[in-house]
Amino acid sequence: MSNIHTYTNGSGYEGNTGVAAVLFQCSSQMLKAILCYHLGPTSDHTNVDTEGIGTILAVWLLRQMNINFSTSKMFTDIQNFMQILGKRGRKTGQYIQNEFIAMAEELWQHVPHSDLLWIQWISAHSKVHGNKMADAEAKQAALGHSSPSHLLPPLLHCCPLPISAVACKQKHMQELNRAWQKEWEASPQYQRFHTIDPNIHFAKFHKVTQKKLCLPHMDISCLVQIQTGHTPLASYLHKIGKMHMSRCPSCWEHIQIEIRETVQHFVLYCPGVY
Ligand SMILES: [Zn+2]
Repeated sequence: MSNIHTYTNGSGYEGNTGVAAVLFQCSSQMLKAILCYHLGPTSDHTNVDTEGIGTILAVWLLRQMNINFSTSKMFTDIQNFMQILGKRGRKTGQYIQNEFIAMAEELWQHVPHSDLLWIQWISAHSKVHGNKMADAEAKQAALGHSSPSHLLPPLLHCCPLPISAVACKQKHMQELNRAWQKEWEASPQYQRFHTIDPNIHFAKFHKVTQKKLCLPHMDISCLVQIQTGHTPLASYLHKIGKMHMSRCPSCWEHIQIEIRETVQHFVLYCPGVY
């Protein structure tokens, strides 16, 4: 009876995704077997699905190698798959998780004296030999080098696998964001924003103001007004035809100088504010 380590890796490379599992016998540190599978375009599957296929390859290796092991540790660099396995209800890539559980149960019956099948997280950048080898094999699989079909688990005989609905939505959102970014950068508003804050990032602004600082809507509105210049100050009110002049009333009253009442003037320079 021996202990077994398997390493799984899913890798996006050159626009495609490959998955690999490598199996080592711990006592001799000897590589016993490798399986790899070309999953298809990166945009067709989520990371969780990819890693799920990796764990299926690893269980299949254990089953096919017919090793009478006592403990098997499976190392994966995606934590989400492990978290999803423990949850009930319908989830994305459900058929992959069901297949993994069915294969693990079958393995359990086949090797009745084995200890638990451990699944353990490992950093994607880990220098462990098995992890590096799984990464290299996954990259090769991404380029189209799958193991022969008859060596793969039944789920992977019929290819390609169904495209993930979540991955489709992610791809669609990315395309929308790219189109929006292009349209936004061509707009006159972008030029104005760019002079105020060249690093303006709406998603980040939303995250900081609403989720981190929990600012009320009124405060967020004031911040946007200050950034855009759309404030109830003379320069803007004059621009939209609500005031006859754009001069600062406070400066005109106290020192009789005509200065445009802009945000910068009001916040930084106007002596009448203090
Ligand atoms: Zn002033």
